[in-house]
Amino acid sequence: MIRINNIKVYEDLDEEDLINFISNKYNILKQDIIDWHISKKSIDARKKDNVHYNYSIDLNLKNEDKYKKFEKVHKKVLPKITINNLNDKKVIIVGSGPSGLFAALTLVQNGLHPIVIEQGSPVEEREKQVDLFRKTGKLNNLSNVQFGEGGSGTFSDGKLTTGIHSPFCKKVLEEFVNFGAPNSILYLSKPHIGTDKLIKIIKNMREYMISKGAKFLFNTKVIDFNINNNKISSVVCKDENSIYDIQASHVILAIGHSSRDTFHKLYERGVCMEKKNFSVGVRIEHLQEKINKSQYGNSKLHLPPAEYKLAYHLPNGRSCYTFCMCPGGVVIASSSEENTIVTNGMSNFLRDGKNANSAVLVNVTPDDFPNSSPLAGIYFQKDLEEKAFVLGGKNYYAPIQRVGDFLNDRKSEFIGEVKPTYLPGVTLSNLQEILPDFVTNTLKASIPYFATKLKEFANPDSILTGVETRSSSPVKILRDNNLISNILGLYPCGEGAGYAGRYYVCCS
Ligand SMILES: Cc1cc2nc3c(=O)[nH]c(=O)nc-3n(C[C@H](O)[C@H](O)[C@H](O)COP(=O)(O)OP(=O)(O)OC[C@H]3O[C@@H](n4cnc5c(N)ncnc54)[C@H](O)[C@@H]3O)c2cc1C
Repeated sequence: MIRINNIKVYEDLDEEDLINFISNKYNILKQDIIDWHISKKSIDARKKDNVHYNYSIDLNLKNEDKYKKFEKVHKKVLPKITINNLNDKKVIIVGSGPSGLFAALTLVQNGLHPIVIEQGSPVEEREKQVDLFRKTGKLNNLSNVQFGEGGSGTFSDGKLTTGIHSPFCKKVLEEFVNFGAPNSILYLSKPHIGTDKLIKIIKNMREYMISKGAKFLFNTKVIDFNINNNKISSVVCKDENSIYDIQASHVILAIGHSSRDTFHKLYERGVCMEKKNFSVGVRIEHLQEKINKSQYGNSKLHLPPAEYKLAYHLPNGRSCYTFCMCPGGVVIASSSEENTIVTNGMSNFLRDGKNANSAVLVNVTPDDFPNSSPLAGIYFQKDLEEKAFVLGGKNYYAPIQRVGDFLNDRKSEFIGEVKPTYLPGVTLSNLQEILPDFVTNTLKASIPYFATKLKEFANPDSILTGVETRSSSPVKILRDNNLISNILGLYPCGEGAGYAGRYYVCCS
């Protein structure tokens, strides 16, 4: 197999035209091509008058000797995951977000039959519960945008990018394709799935695992952990009808970053954890067509809705960065506790909504927390979420402000060309009334700076929606090199363990 990198293409080509173009450009005889595939496709929009695609292509060729000048590549073989104690079938996974689901899949693929316990509903039912909250403000605090099958990223953009370089990243993408994701996620430089497709993929994954002997207990919450001689022996479960124990020698804790009562219980039971840095801020919305124009200029290519990623480091040590940008998406109500407002963003596969949205976050360190408890970051988050609830009108409407008003210290009195997408509704506000001063000041310094990189960013009509507090876990559950906590048999993983990459956890 040979690989040709850095192929610049200035038009939209279907697969047949692309291989013809490559065969002509690189003098490769069509009859020598046994098979081929795209290994990477990205958009180079650094120069607005020279926007083009950039491809890497792998070709399996006859007469390879003729093509010695090209780089040879070998198919990468994934490191094998070996699981000790294969006979010991008592594995429980608490949580069915990406980390819980992929842990379960790995166990199933190694012949085990894990029990997955999830406090929220199966994804089809959960979709209705999320919809109800968005329409009526009626919150189900066990099944919502943060909780339920698929975990907190189900109602998301489904971005699959990560800053880590694990060989297992590829496995995650391949499994998504096996369960129904488009093949293009294997080669696009910024792959995404979208809420609409993710919901079906997660259902397919669950059905496959059940067919192989896994068990899923939905609407069932783990409320306690029984520990004997420093070793986990069972978990206490609560469902609609009863409270009961399930024995287990191995418990994978895949609880995400928002299960605050579970963090409290683990702390009470002596599980070692510590506070960690995270970030808070707001969501910003712009018109997608203006972001496209800023990023792509007047390019005539059929380009996808444009993305951006911006960061600014202030001399005082604070940083501000955009996070989880959702082209053509909506700002989504992500509360998981009563009387709180939490924002996040989602989009469907086509990303065809009118607005672009992104979190604009400021780093928070343990020095900002109200006390020295390992759980203090949770109190910091919750305080902000409760203030946003009050500012929004105590009815799950989110407080919003035009960027022009935010930068000029005044409450918004009208909505301009950018219409907010947050449901069930929004309240015109002055977000400075609730944001800590350091967050307000950092945002005020950063938004104009970002506008020097992306023209549209500080458009006065852009909308800020408060508050974004759950970008990553405020707590880290300590674990050793074998990924075990100080309690034998208890394996913290994923976002809730506090080890997930700041960007996207699917590959963590
Ligand atoms: C709206 C939104 C959009 C996002 N967009 C993206 C994106 O585009 N790309 C991306 O990579 N990331 C995105 N993220 C972040 C991503 O979803 C998380 O990083 C990821 O879901 C974390 O995975 P996890 O499995 O560790 O935890 P989670 O996904 O949070 O899953 C934890 C699960 O555990 C369950 N649970 C917790 N405690 C208990 C208990 N005691 N008993 C039973 N069940 C319990 C919860 O109900 C939950 O379902 C987004 C997040 C949100 C909220």
